[in-house]
Amino acid sequence: MPYKDKNSPAARESSRRNSAAYKKRHPERILALRKDHYARNGDAIRARQMKRHFAHRDEMLVKMRKHYLKRVYGLTVEQYEALGTACEICGDTEERKLHKSGKPYRMSVDHCHDTGKICGLLCGNCNAGIGHFDHDPDLMMKAIEYVKRTHAAQTA
Ligand SMILES: [Zn+2]
Repeated sequence: MPYKDKNSPAARESSRRNSAAYKKRHPERILALRKDHYARNGDAIRARQMKRHFAHRDEMLVKMRKHYLKRVYGLTVEQYEALGTACEICGDTEERKLHKSGKPYRMSVDHCHDTGKICGLLCGNCNAGIGHFDHDPDLMMKAIEYVKRTHAAQTA
């Protein structure tokens, strides 16, 4: 039975129910409509998504960083910043080491994988370097002796 007022709550509820029932009866038609819509408007849809993405990108990166520090190291942003900005081995800073994009390079928080204890701030290179030596001082001493014996003589 038709409704006098198409905008009455009862009419709207009835319309919603009919529409839901139609979608359930003809999933293939709904899918075809969606595909057709996307084929015709895909470029505009993607452009709108990218615009939204970039409008919130910086604020999202800040949030992601905050959650990453908390989740991985149990640190707040303030605690992270209190560690300083320079690599404890080579002394490079986040400001000095810039990404190609011009954004500051993020230091690695060196931590003990067994206890989770924070050891200090390292740049990616130094962190990877000691990681490759398994944080083993004896092995690193041997590497130093090797480099001194074989490479330092050539540059001296
Ligand atoms: Zn370093």
